[in-house]
Parts: sequence; C-alpha cells; structure tokens
Amino acid sequence: MYRFQEIIDSCIDCKKCWDVCPVNMVTDGNRFTPQGKIESLAKIVACEELSKDEYDNIYLSTRCGACDDVCPVDIPITDIIQYERQLLAQQGREPAKTTAISQNIIEHNSPGAKDPSKRFDWVTDDLDIAESSEIAYMAGCWVSYSQPDIARATIRLLNHAGIRPMILKDEKCCGLFLVDNGHLEQLAEHARKFVDYIESLGVKKVIASCPGCYIVLGKEYPKLYRELNFEVEHSLKVFKDMIADGTLKPRKLDLAVSVRDACPIRGSKDIPRSILESMGVEVKELFEEKQVCCGGPAGLKPNFPEIANNIAMLSVKDYKDKADMLASYCPFCMHHMEGACKSKDEEMEMKDISVLLAESVLGK
Ligand code: SF4
Ligand code: SF4
Repeated sequence: MYRFQEIIDSCIDCKKCWDVCPVNMVTDGNRFTPQGKIESLAKIVACEELSKDEYDNIYLSTRCGACDDVCPVDIPITDIIQYERQLLAQQGREPAKTTAISQNIIEHNSPGAKDPSKRFDWVTDDLDIAESSEIAYMAGCWVSYSQPDIARATIRLLNHAGIRPMILKDEKCCGLFLVDNGHLEQLAEHARKFVDYIESLGVKKVIASCPGCYIVLGKEYPKLYRELNFEVEHSLKVFKDMIADGTLKPRKLDLAVSVRDACPIRGSKDIPRSILESMGVEVKELFEEKQVCCGGPAGLKPNFPEIANNIAMLSVKDYKDKADMLASYCPFCMHHMEGACKSKDEEMEMKDISVLLAESVLGK
C-alpha cells in the first residue's frame, strides 16, 4: 500500500471539507472539492490518465488548510495534494506555468524572475540598517518587489525600538511555491545554501514580514535540511511583544477594519488582533470568523486567474459591508488582492498592519 491510501480510505464522506473550500465556493456543481482531490491519488500513483476536471482539481488548491482544519477524521488533505503534485511533476505531468515558476525560484531567486539588483530598492536613506548584526530582516520577494512600504514601516518601527537590523544581501526566495507543488528535493538544496549563508553571517534571529517566509524557514527548512542555528520570528510577533513591554507606544487610530488573515499562520490570529486593539482599531470579522483564503497561493493565481480573482472578491465584498478597510499581514495576499481588484475594476482599501502600526506609533 503506497503512502496515504489507507488514510484516504478512512474518509467518512461527511462533505465538511466541501463547505470550507474557497475554490468550491466560487465554482459550480461541486466539481472541485477537496475530497475529490484526494480521491485521484490511486490513479496518479498508477500513472493513469486523469479527466480534465480531475487534473485541474489537483492544481485548484491554494493549500490554505481550511479543509484540514474541519476534517473529522484528520485526513491531511493538503499533504496529500502536495504528494499528488510531487508525483505529477516526477511523471512530467505538471502544468507548464508551475514548472516555469519553480525554475525561476531556483535559477533567478524569485517566482517572477525579477531583477536581483532591484531586490533592495525599498531601502531608503532614512532607514538605519547595520552592516552586521545578530538580528537580520528578511523582506521576502513580495515585499521587496511589490509591497516596499511594509519593509520601510518594519525597519522604522525596529529602529524606533532601538534595533538596527542587517539585511541579507544574498536574500533568497523562501521557496513556499516549491513546498506547495511538491518540489521538495529542489527546495532541500535551496534551503541548504540559504541556511548556510545566513549562519555564516553570525545571525541569531531572522525577522520576516511574510508569513510564507516565516513558515518555510522556521518549519520546512528544519525538515528538509537540519535544525537552524538561528530563530525565525514573524514581524507582528516582535511588535506585539514590544507593545506589551512598552517599547512601542501606539496612538489611537479612528478605524474599523476587517482582518485578511494569512493562511500559513492562521493559528496565531490573536497576534494581529492584539496589535489592532492596542491602536484602538475596531475589528469587524470577515466571514463570521471562518478562515477563507485570498485565492492567490500555490499556483492558483497563474494557472486559474479567474477563479483566484473570484476568491479574492469574497473578502472584498464581505469587508465593504462592515469596515473601512482590510488589514493584512501577508504581502502576497495584498499583491493578489490588489491585482484581482484591478482586473475587476473594483475599489479596495487595504493596508498591512505593520504600516498601520508605523502610522500609529510614528505618525504618517
Ligand atoms: S487547501 Fe484550501 S483551497 Fe485547497 S482543497 Fe483545502 S480548502 Fe480547498
Ligand atoms: S472532511 Fe474529511 S471525512 Fe469529510 S468528506 Fe472531506 S475528506 Fe472526507
């Protein structure tokens, strides 16, 4: 019996995963359910041909984890999707765009093969960045190339708290896309190079703005390579602690926001809310506190842009009924949501919580 089949056979057909899947929410006829995705494993293992819907369904997932969270028999649905994608890639049956993005990460260090000389264009003269420090700031690809305000706000807040972080001059893409698409051997080699580089600098702590970077460095690299000799923290956790001990003193912002929670760290939703509360910001929950993905990750955006954009619109429609703006702590959510709104000609207000905190502590 190959990996996972016994677990898949324990499905009790309750359909709970159907109701929480954002892909299923925006497509008709329950054609693309999480349950359907895992049921294709036997065919994939046997290298059998898949129908178009069966094949698309494997790639119609952001690996947001909402299905894992509700499955009453604890089937690791996202692990099975990752394994199915790993097998399809090994069999030469991966979508061409997925292969191209994976190669971009390995060969050019970012999903979009961006110009590496522009990675640090976000650095401005007013930011106090050390040549060398035990604390390093990792902006990540989406902040560096698409959301520079997040990096600037983060460094300003760290500077205000008396910290002069260094930047990683050879910063690499964390490789979340490789995790999501089962390119684990490629990622193991990438992780080895990146971890060895960070450790060669004497860094003891990496602060990451992106939940993807935070999870991949902190949780995936130790599995794929070895335990790290440095800590990894998400920037919001650092700021929450600084507010608690009085190092950062937020002032009141007259705002009501809905929080666009980041799937990779959905278990720590209290952290963004505690920061918002410290600024007197009212939180109006999206989707009655249910986790609904932004729709962009894991290849959904490049392979199925219309479905990815329709998922983004769920958050836009929901926040507009209740709040002034969306507050985010994921630069990729922000990048995807902005692109989706542009393509739909839809207005949206969205800010990263680090940017809101910088406005509250330091003024605009
Ligand atoms: S991980 Fe998210 S998008 Fe993928 S099948 Fe599960 S609920 Fe659907
Ligand atoms: S939630 Fe779990 S048990 Fe229920 S249908 Fe989905 S995979 Fe099967």
